[in-house]
Amino acid sequence: MHIEHPYTGTGSWYKGNIHMHSRKSDGGLDMPQLRDLYRGLGFDFICVSDHAHDGLDPSAGIDKIDTPGEFAVLSGYEAASGGHVNCIGATRLPDRLGNMPEAIQAAASEGGFSILNNPSGYTLDRATGENFHGIAGIEITNSVCMYLHDLFGPEDGYAAVDSGYALTLWDQMLSQGRRLWGFSNDDFHGFDSVPGISMNWVRSEQLEGPALLSAMKRGDFYASTGVRFEGIEVEGGEIRIRAENAGRVRFSGPDGEVFSEVAGEEGVYAVRGNEGYVRAEATNDVRLFPNVTADSRFPRDGGFLLAETGHTGERCCELDGGGGVLHWGVQNKIVNQKAPKALTFGGWVQTGGLRQLAGDCECSLSLWMQSYEQGVLPVSTIDLSALPMEWSRVEQTVPLDLRVRRVAVRMRLTGYEGKVRFDDLFLRQEGSPENLLVNPSFEDDSRLDKYTQQAWTQPFWIHG
Ligand SMILES: [Zn+2]
Repeated sequence: MHIEHPYTGTGSWYKGNIHMHSRKSDGGLDMPQLRDLYRGLGFDFICVSDHAHDGLDPSAGIDKIDTPGEFAVLSGYEAASGGHVNCIGATRLPDRLGNMPEAIQAAASEGGFSILNNPSGYTLDRATGENFHGIAGIEITNSVCMYLHDLFGPEDGYAAVDSGYALTLWDQMLSQGRRLWGFSNDDFHGFDSVPGISMNWVRSEQLEGPALLSAMKRGDFYASTGVRFEGIEVEGGEIRIRAENAGRVRFSGPDGEVFSEVAGEEGVYAVRGNEGYVRAEATNDVRLFPNVTADSRFPRDGGFLLAETGHTGERCCELDGGGGVLHWGVQNKIVNQKAPKALTFGGWVQTGGLRQLAGDCECSLSLWMQSYEQGVLPVSTIDLSALPMEWSRVEQTVPLDLRVRRVAVRMRLTGYEGKVRFDDLFLRQEGSPENLLVNPSFEDDSRLDKYTQQAWTQPFWIHG
């Protein structure tokens, strides 16, 4: 019997995230800001993988922020055609934009590799189709999909990306004998998501692009949402896993069959010889989104009433300043990238009893946009701080010349004590009565609470 596995390298373990977006496509931050953000979160390297579009230069600006040995920035981009694939290590777009096999091939020819992104809603046929031939791995977690799915649910199309996990699909593909590494990435846009949730711990001799690329291609890394493996060892027919912060270690194989599960930080699995493959995962009870509480997501009581039945004030939502703590809310809708000439947003607001505290303060309703051309930006803000105490109607019209990908109306209350209530919020295109905002539903406030920290090894292939 022989156990084939990728954990044979030497060097140090480096923490990286290789899926995120900057203002070069539809992200909210520029490249140096992303570098600073992730460095501040304890990461060692990133790949800023902007969406491929005419004129995108994936390598532009990297030399200014890549500091080998300190913090590495890899080149790459996200290709879209029948799905999304990250081409890591690619410094230029393929000749034919939108041809996925060509993109995957071009990345490989530059010494890079490709990953199927957020595929949790994919069928096995789709994921294994010719379109994605040559990928090196798939995202088994995608933080923004976890977050958006649970905030907006199926009403806004996020059902298609399931909950941000693709472990079942990964096992199906591995069970077919495919050699695919599992990656954990954020897909951070700086807009409606949380950075630093997902990560890849890569073992490499050097903290620099080519060494990290080659370690990931070999599979000498593990995917994680916070659990940290201290040891991944194979000896005498046993796989031994130690994690410094796990509560359970589990070994499983084809089609997700669980072979063993133990409590604690260490697990040892004696290989039988007929498993096909074995992989390990470790879990604890630490919540992934501890700072996203029900109160700071959306107010609950009766849900959030959009402009459908007229303002009553009975099922309004309420933001509680709580002594100056920032609260916010978002309403989203994909607008099919068509450019409306103008958008009008507004609603009913009651700001009774607000008391301003020292420091920065803001009480506002604003319209945000996400576009491929300009990233994420606020396009219009209505200051609510001077409104009278009774319910008032506010409205603003904003002319546009962007290809809009998503829009959001955000409520922001910071630096105040007291409450502000919103009702009948709306967003309309010129000449149309349709409300573009989508009502989020919060039947279960614990939806984001269910996610806890985990880590996943790559598969150990068992040759009987
Ligand atoms: Zn992306």
